[in-house]
Amino acid sequence: MNIALVAHDGRKDELIAWAKFNYGLLSQHKLYATGTTGRLIEEITVSDGSRPFAGKVTRLLSGPLGGDQQIGAMIAERKIDMLIFFCDNLIVQGHQNDVSALTRLAALYNIAFATNRTTADMLLTSSLLNDPSYEIQVPDVIAHYANRKLK
Ligand code: PGA
Repeated sequence: MNIALVAHDGRKDELIAWAKFNYGLLSQHKLYATGTTGRLIEEITVSDGSRPFAGKVTRLLSGPLGGDQQIGAMIAERKIDMLIFFCDNLIVQGHQNDVSALTRLAALYNIAFATNRTTADMLLTSSLLNDPSYEIQVPDVIAHYANRKLK
């Protein structure tokens, strides 16, 4: 699976704790992240002293500098299967438009999408992750829109 990870500053500690707890499962996947989130994930040190994510996260631009849009574009290109996005729901972001665009595309393209730790736990432990016959269905509405009749 191609998994994208994003956390706003107010929830970075939460995402890092989640990634550390789940490093065994999470490190089996190809990981992408916005810049600062990705750096913090790569710096995670686990109990045996190793850094399981070091050099293993494709780091995009920082979210407010275009990273959210980069991940959104990858979703539209079907290059991301799962988005773990811990957004701060208590403040409006300077890049709120980008945040809305990213969540919209995650929903539109029917990817697995978590905005909190419980859902992220459930996604990462789903048996479907190891089912080679399971494919993300691209909703019909996308083809209908692409082929819509214009006068
Ligand atoms: P960051 O971006 O990981 O570079 O901090 C996250 C965001 O605010 O979208």
